[in-house]
Amino acid sequence: MTRFRCGKCEREFVADKPTCAKCGLDPDVEPRHEMCFMELRTTHYDPPTHVPGIGKNHAACDPTLRTGTNGDSWTGEKKFVNCEKCKESEVFKADAPPPVPVDTIRTMPLAEVEALAREAKELA
Ligand SMILES: [Zn+2]
Ligand SMILES: [Zn+2]
Repeated sequence: MTRFRCGKCEREFVADKPTCAKCGLDPDVEPRHEMCFMELRTTHYDPPTHVPGIGKNHAACDPTLRTGTNGDSWTGEKKFVNCEKCKESEVFKADAPPPVPVDTIRTMPLAEVEALAREAKELA
């Protein structure tokens, strides 16, 4: 089973092959419809600990499923979770401390980036 997103109606679904029941896209009828579907990874919810930004490193849907052990992806941000079983879990429904916002992640200062760009131009 694979997780797909329909490029026309944005619907996500899990199936053996991509066919959108909602808008009728069907590669068996029209092979060009194949390119309208995007294959997605399953993203599990990594429940938070009491320390913001640090998760428990296992899936909310299955505590034996550790982060990084299969091809799935992981997040502490509920809006990015697409695993139906994680969404149904108590820990997902419970209020949790908010995850660390992306803008607090340290990035390279702009001045440094501009200096590198100037250097690259001079060398070219
Ligand atoms: Zn669709
Ligand atoms: Zn899950």
